Amino acid sequence: MHADPVQRARKLERGRAWRKANPDKVKQGKRRFLLREGKARQNYLKLQARHNRNPVRAQKKRELARARYYELHPKRPDCLCRGCGERVDWNGVGRPVLRCDRCCAPAELRRRERRRTQRAPEAQLQGVA
Ligand SMILES: [Zn+2]
Repeated sequence: MHADPVQRARKLERGRAWRKANPDKVKQGKRRFLLREGKARQNYLKLQARHNRNPVRAQKKRELARARYYELHPKRPDCLCRGCGERVDWNGVGRPVLRCDRCCAPAELRRRERRRTQRAPEAQLQGVA
């Protein structure tokens, strides 16, 4: 069964469809699994969830993911305004804006300024310029 990739793919697809069609049964099954595994396993899963929520760890994971992305995509995008063609300020995080502050719509400019004032304290904490 597992040796044949076509059959395997078909089996996985069928399972995926069944889980999508029966969300209640999936939920019940997860509950039964946890009850069967007992307290120690439940505590371990809670611990794991807390571990993944840790902001320091999340930050490390983000940095690793970004480094990997830069490794796979070495060419950075051109940050040129679509309106005037001048260079747009971009700190390398996320996606660069298409239009500079002078060329974007007034509502967009207000939104950007609001975001900048909201993000300022967080950026100071992380030491991001
Ligand atoms: Zn512009």
